[in-house]
Amino acid sequence: MNRKQEIGNNGKRDPRNARVSADYWYEEAWKNAGKCVFCDLKDKYIIAEKDGVVLTVNLYQYIDGHLMVIPRRHIESLSETSQKEWKAIFSLLNLGVKKLQEKLNIEDVYILDRPLSGFKTGKTVTHSHFHIIPYKPELVSWHYQEINIHPENLARKLR
Ligand SMILES: [Zn+2]
Repeated sequence: MNRKQEIGNNGKRDPRNARVSADYWYEEAWKNAGKCVFCDLKDKYIIAEKDGVVLTVNLYQYIDGHLMVIPRRHIESLSETSQKEWKAIFSLLNLGVKKLQEKLNIEDVYILDRPLSGFKTGKTVTHSHFHIIPYKPELVSWHYQEINIHPENLARKLR
């Protein structure tokens, strides 16, 4: 089954496979806009803005309440972020979490960033962005791996 079949002929997303459909829509949005989708954020989706950084809803949500924090500037590496932007990112992440807790009674969230090339992890847009994803056990589950580096050795290796 290809991606077009997964979203159906009427163009509606198949909620059983939202992640794949989200990838598909990102790709389509990218092609159609001819530019980066995060450089072209619509005001109606923005919740708050501070020092060149926005807190916005995610149009291709993994789950209800999925928010994003995105610098306005097209930067693709965290090392390009200014101190002012870092502070705004931190502040808007906190604001997003607080709003989800207060207004949607979200119990907890994951904050996710994929700072490297990341495409193997499902990242589809290179413009730096952070996800605030409401916690739900079925959505994300962490599996412990076999550990090959003792924590003490890891600390020594990374110093
Ligand atoms: Zn961009």
